[in-house]
Amino acid sequence: MATMDELFGLNVFNDSVMRQRLPKETYRALHKTIDDGRRLDPQVASVVANAMKDWALEHGATHYTHWFQPLNSVTAEKHDAFISPVPGGRVVQEFSGKELVRGEADASSLPSGGLRSTFEARGYTTWDPTSYAFIKDRVLCIPTAYCSYSGEALDQKTPLLRSMEALNRQAVRVLHLFGRLDATRVTPTVGPEQEYFLVDKDLYNRRSDLIFAGRTLFGAKAPKGQELGDHFFGTIQTRVQAFMADLNEELWKLGVLAKTEHNETAPAQHEMAPIYSIVNVACDHNQLTMEMMKKIARRHNLVCLLAEKPFEGVNGSGKHNNWSMFTNTGYNLLEPGDSPHESAQFLLFLTSVIKAVDDYQDLLRASVASAGNDHRLGGCEAPPAIISIFLGDELTEILQALEHGARYSGREKADMTIGVHMLPKFPKDTTDRNRTSPFAFTGNKFEFRSLGSSASISDANVVLNTIVAESLRQFADELEKAEDFRSCLHDLIVREIRAHKRIIFNGNNYADAWREEADQRGLVCLETTVDALPVYTAEKNVRLFETHQVLSAAELRSRRDIGLDAYAKTINIEAETMIMMASRQILPAVLRYTGTLASSVNSVRAAGADLSCGGTLLADLTREADMLSDAIHHLDECLKKRPSAEDRPEEDARYMRDSVLPRMAELRAHADALEKITDKTYWPFPTYDELLFSVE
Ligand code: ADP
Ligand code: MG
Repeated sequence: MATMDELFGLNVFNDSVMRQRLPKETYRALHKTIDDGRRLDPQVASVVANAMKDWALEHGATHYTHWFQPLNSVTAEKHDAFISPVPGGRVVQEFSGKELVRGEADASSLPSGGLRSTFEARGYTTWDPTSYAFIKDRVLCIPTAYCSYSGEALDQKTPLLRSMEALNRQAVRVLHLFGRLDATRVTPTVGPEQEYFLVDKDLYNRRSDLIFAGRTLFGAKAPKGQELGDHFFGTIQTRVQAFMADLNEELWKLGVLAKTEHNETAPAQHEMAPIYSIVNVACDHNQLTMEMMKKIARRHNLVCLLAEKPFEGVNGSGKHNNWSMFTNTGYNLLEPGDSPHESAQFLLFLTSVIKAVDDYQDLLRASVASAGNDHRLGGCEAPPAIISIFLGDELTEILQALEHGARYSGREKADMTIGVHMLPKFPKDTTDRNRTSPFAFTGNKFEFRSLGSSASISDANVVLNTIVAESLRQFADELEKAEDFRSCLHDLIVREIRAHKRIIFNGNNYADAWREEADQRGLVCLETTVDALPVYTAEKNVRLFETHQVLSAAELRSRRDIGLDAYAKTINIEAETMIMMASRQILPAVLRYTGTLASSVNSVRAAGADLSCGGTLLADLTREADMLSDAIHHLDECLKKRPSAEDRPEEDARYMRDSVLPRMAELRAHADALEKITDKTYWPFPTYDELLFSVE
């Protein structure tokens, strides 16, 4: 077996490879681009491209691709062979600087939300040199951003890179006020914990809902779910263990810092957490992780389900987005620190996040909105749709003491004055952690827990970076003008805590009482995707994104519309799948069974005995079967009446939510009731007990 040294980053054109293979000058110039965001000189690009090609060929690659992330949560790639013809009917393998830096993709079938008309379908891909190129399936993949002909963002990476710049600009201003002149760059870091389900592939292949929707649309609860809590952190099943080992190896080769693996709460549910990295790399790596999970599962005759709610009645899957900010000098800005000076700085950055989350609750909610995630948020298994912050008792008390100019009752018995006193040490709790909060401070980072398991982490981090940049911009504007920095800082922090403390909630976010209280506090509650996505174009939010040059009004509109359109399409696919399964599988199976049962009852009666339970069952079956048939009809009619909603995605999405979803629920209820009374041998596809408990 290969050692970790041989394995890790084997397929990555990483810094040590670059240092080895690039002339010193080129290496230095490239680093200027990577570290300081400088434009890349074409000459340098040519040298890099050539070295990259040689390396890729030595590693068995035949093609290259600009690997990008369109607005549909997956990645896109179009392969080009390195070949170019030379006289004599032969070819040489080439790769130019131009080809490395910029690509052209006729991508008319990718979502653009009206930003690009089909006749002007060209899109351009541009290399993101801060994320290393890598080889996957003999293809050299170059992480790229993807824009329209006129430069509008059509992908996840472009706004993410812009939001990183915005945060960097404002955070550096603030750091300089604290005299940290050595800090010239601030970068957001993210460690995304990925949850997923594994099911047996043979069972999967027999369920159209899993194949078409990635989640079950029918299924009565199994006798056992997650109530015993025996799956969470339980011994990992042998087949799953083999899958995990394989996955780790592939991820390590790709330079992904796969670190923690364990069984999750629901049966058949698991999690993988990498070590954090800078956010655009974390985002690329999370996309790769999802892709590899799916691919490697199949090698083990398993299928990986990334949908947010694959099974009713047990927990769904999310992604915890651990987020912080680091300086180029290696300093975590959300780490409380060991001196009064550091404490003050920490408190200011902490306050900037509190203010940001309160001012832009709506955007954070919108950033995690999807048809799949709607089934999870608010289901008492994931944070509710209401955004709030968990700070923990200790830190909350400190903020209260500051706000009231009172003594903090902890160990430090002095008045807490910002810039003079140190923060008392508070524990980085791990045990009594509040798992119900959507946005929790966990000692030296925030954990945003509302993300769906199948989504790109980009949207959430674009919002996070930008809203914190906005708080910091306001703070820097004020503090830069201050005559007495320390007293201005103190007043600012106290004022902002007072203004935004309503967003802090340390209690149980699943409780009904919290809904009422949140309402009284004036917090925003955007229950569904249809409520949430339109806030992208609210005036205050457009102003925010335009101020920081992250997204323009047109780009925001396109994102909102793409999201709403995806919502409607997802529900439509699910509804069509339900109709197909119910009318061509469930109803026929039930009728077959009913027929057999009727014959049995008849022959028993003919033999002179009575079979009253048979009669009762027949009555139940026929009644439910009729209702099932009606429900199929209702859903079908409802889909037929769907108003043509060209250019009105919001109306379309609302129709799907208000008219179609209830019909789907009606149909499912009858099907699930029938499943419980139908002879198992007649049931046309594998049931929950098999799907959730068959992998050993
Ligand atoms: P916890 O048990 O507190 O959730 P872990 O150590 O398991 O903490 O970390 C969870 C995730 O948070 C991991 O992906 C980890 O790399 C990431 N993480 C830790 N520190 C930071 C940080 N400063 N910024 C971003 N992510 C971080
Ligand atoms: Mg965690």
